Amino acid sequence: MPAITNHMPTEELQRIDAAHHMHPFTTGDELSAKGARVITRAKGVYLTDSEGIEILDAMAGLWCVNIGYGRDELADVAARQMKELPYYNTFFQTTHVPVIALSQKLAELAPGDLNHIFYAGSGSEANDTNLRMVRTYWAQKGKPDKNVVIARWNGYHGSSMGSGSLGGMVGIHSQGGLPIPNIHHIPQPHWWAEGGDMSPEDFGLARAQELEKAILELGEDRVAAFIAEPVQGAGGVIVPPATYWPEIQRICDKYGVLLIADEVICGFGRTGNWFGSQTMDIRPDIMTVAKGLSSGYIPIGGSIVSDEVAKVINACEFNHGYTYSGHPVAAAVALENLRIIEEENIIGHVRDVVAPYLKEKWEALTDHPLVGEARIVGMMGSIALTPNKATRAAFASEAGTVGYMCRERCFANALVMRHVGDRMIISPPLVITPAEVDILIERARKSLDETYEAVMAKGLMQAAA
Ligand SMILES: *Cc1c(COP(=O)(O)O)cnc(C)c1O
Repeated sequence: MPAITNHMPTEELQRIDAAHHMHPFTTGDELSAKGARVITRAKGVYLTDSEGIEILDAMAGLWCVNIGYGRDELADVAARQMKELPYYNTFFQTTHVPVIALSQKLAELAPGDLNHIFYAGSGSEANDTNLRMVRTYWAQKGKPDKNVVIARWNGYHGSSMGSGSLGGMVGIHSQGGLPIPNIHHIPQPHWWAEGGDMSPEDFGLARAQELEKAILELGEDRVAAFIAEPVQGAGGVIVPPATYWPEIQRICDKYGVLLIADEVICGFGRTGNWFGSQTMDIRPDIMTVAKGLSSGYIPIGGSIVSDEVAKVINACEFNHGYTYSGHPVAAAVALENLRIIEEENIIGHVRDVVAPYLKEKWEALTDHPLVGEARIVGMMGSIALTPNKATRAAFASEAGTVGYMCRERCFANALVMRHVGDRMIISPPLVITPAEVDILIERARKSLDETYEAVMAKGLMQAAA
């Protein structure tokens, strides 16, 4: 089959893009001035741009292309499903085979009694569902005032009104009237940046106990749920100290607060288990899923709900749903993606082969003069850039200045590595091989070297006061 090639020169594509396409989380004018990079093809862990340059995608798109690019099986399933039943809804006492099969599979894969799935088109939508579901749950149980959801500063749960409110991103809250009422944020377990003189273990406990403090302040009868990512992704791949999650679980149990694990990144193998909740040994009442559920090949998200929560919700009419909840093509593609992950033992590949290999290479980056700490769980990792490793100092320059410089060097060196402030993050496709990890690390080191040179030349190796 011939490739779908460009019809126009890159510059022309960029010009039209700038004229008509509004990019998410982007300053449009700045991007228009330099022109967006046009990605035309992808295979395995590599993207190809319109100039024919191959780029190693160490972010798996947006943390989602778990099985890698270019798997024909997913395209074939989508085509077959579109011909057989391209669309039907599940609102009107109807259902269809792909959604039945996917639900059974997710119930089997999800831990404990998480056996019921409410579908959405994305992670944001699924978290909006969760917000309404936990409040409805308590209202059904005669506690309509138990409606506050506690979340974390610098958590990410999406960018719709509900999910953006659950998230703790100041940039999102600053536009459009967020957060909506009855969302309460507590500080994150980010030891490197906020741990001060405490040991990581003590700090992890202290930050978990912020949840207890908030529950006691608000009143146990007001708090419906706590939502968090097992490992914060968009916040900078922040791996909590080992003491954090056990204490959170204890507190949720003690006060009857539902635990929502946002598994949109951590789910489907990213941390070396099917779900991050298994890696962190927690028992959520609801898990949010999206991204890796379809390896990003098609939009789909959902809430995987416990027997107890489903029992209460199913006893009433839950006035909620999306036109594309349980879309048959998306469900069929997701199911095929799960088949590939399972039959090809991709999680075993992560756990036993490539995550240990990547961990060793990644942690060795701390020998670089710019790199403070290196953290990694499974296939999500981060490094902190710092002007002073001993004091864990931030740069005197505006947060993100050095991180952005490093990201630009990576892009120039054919590596997609993102920055969050002055942290560099990776989340490569799970199918990456050790040989490809070597290339990733080689390009990352080269980019760090070039960044360091530029930082020195510009006199930016200065600690914030
Ligand atoms: C990406 C993400 C979301 C939002 O998913 P969308 O599909 O972009 O709406 C929610 N939670 C987490 C943890 C995410 O990383």
